[in-house]
Amino acid sequence: MSRFFSDKFAELEAYVPGEQPKDQQYIKLNTNENAFPPHPAIAGAVQEESANLHLYPDPECRDLREELAKTLGLKADELILTNGSDEILNFAFMAFCDRHIPAVFPDITYGFYPVFAKVDQVPYREIPLKDDLTIEVKDYFQTAGTIFIANPNAPTGIALPRNRIEEILQTNPYNVVVVDEAYVDFGAESCLPLIREYDNLLVTQTFSKSRSLAGGRLGFGAGNPELIRDLETIRYSTNPYNIDRLTLAAGIACLKNDEYNMKNCRIIMETREWTRKELEKFGFDVKPSSTNFLFARHPGLGGEELYRTLKEKGILIRHFSLERIKDYNRISIGTREQMEKFIAVVGEIIQQQ
Ligand code: PMP
Repeated sequence: MSRFFSDKFAELEAYVPGEQPKDQQYIKLNTNENAFPPHPAIAGAVQEESANLHLYPDPECRDLREELAKTLGLKADELILTNGSDEILNFAFMAFCDRHIPAVFPDITYGFYPVFAKVDQVPYREIPLKDDLTIEVKDYFQTAGTIFIANPNAPTGIALPRNRIEEILQTNPYNVVVVDEAYVDFGAESCLPLIREYDNLLVTQTFSKSRSLAGGRLGFGAGNPELIRDLETIRYSTNPYNIDRLTLAAGIACLKNDEYNMKNCRIIMETREWTRKELEKFGFDVKPSSTNFLFARHPGLGGEELYRTLKEKGILIRHFSLERIKDYNRISIGTREQMEKFIAVVGEIIQQQ
């Protein structure tokens, strides 16, 4: 830390993204990227748009917003586009939390939430998950704060049905409820159909997972137009050109070929269930997943040990050192071939126990 760094960030511990080591070729099952490349039409669209890179992008992202509205059956003014969904989440912390309005979220959830709270200088309260790592919905009734719920939750992969989220919305008419649906397309129920009914609901989604565009950095928020305007105020006050021209072009081409994305999601879900069964045969306890990853532990093998042994053998998965989940690992679902290799190597490790 330099002597110039503001005191207000003295305690700030930055978010640590999943590792990307370059020392060898790994099977990368550690950052929940999509197993499939983007639709081939995206390359042409990006190539064409590159001729316009001397010009700023459209700060209103009109064309992409219209295309997204069409895809989701919403109106363009119900949507805000951001640089990944991390950005819309940060905007929500900035817009809807303050000294008197804490952020409220589960103790085990997306690790960026406490970091956003700290960098935005807002207090936060963590509500423990139940022993089985599910959310106790009642714990969120009449909460004095802005609620952040990842649904499905990460890193557990467990989803709440929409009607349970609706109970949280109904019992919090004076607070914003942010539902982070980064993984929703892998088998969970979206709350998008509720945005017209609840003016306190903000749904966030991303193109990083189900739409194979993690490298393009594209996310969005959906909600009541007034809520969206607040978030636009934050966006225009930080970075109005937050989506670059290449990503705008990529996003449109991506949505025009959305059947490709949704078909890939179905394949990933099938591969996920195949992987689950194989892990269970080895004695793993695997949480029910509505995402493109599995959260699993083995009674005879520590989480960190499995992570390290797999890394030595060229396979990356994600281990979290948080006390409550240190026995688990989060395993992103890759291609069927990658998962067969993963299962074969896990089998060898288990046998050597
Ligand atoms: N929410 C959750 C629960 C996530 O796991 C992630 C991915 N790390 C994000 C949001 C943000 O993803 P992105 O910024 O790529 O949209």
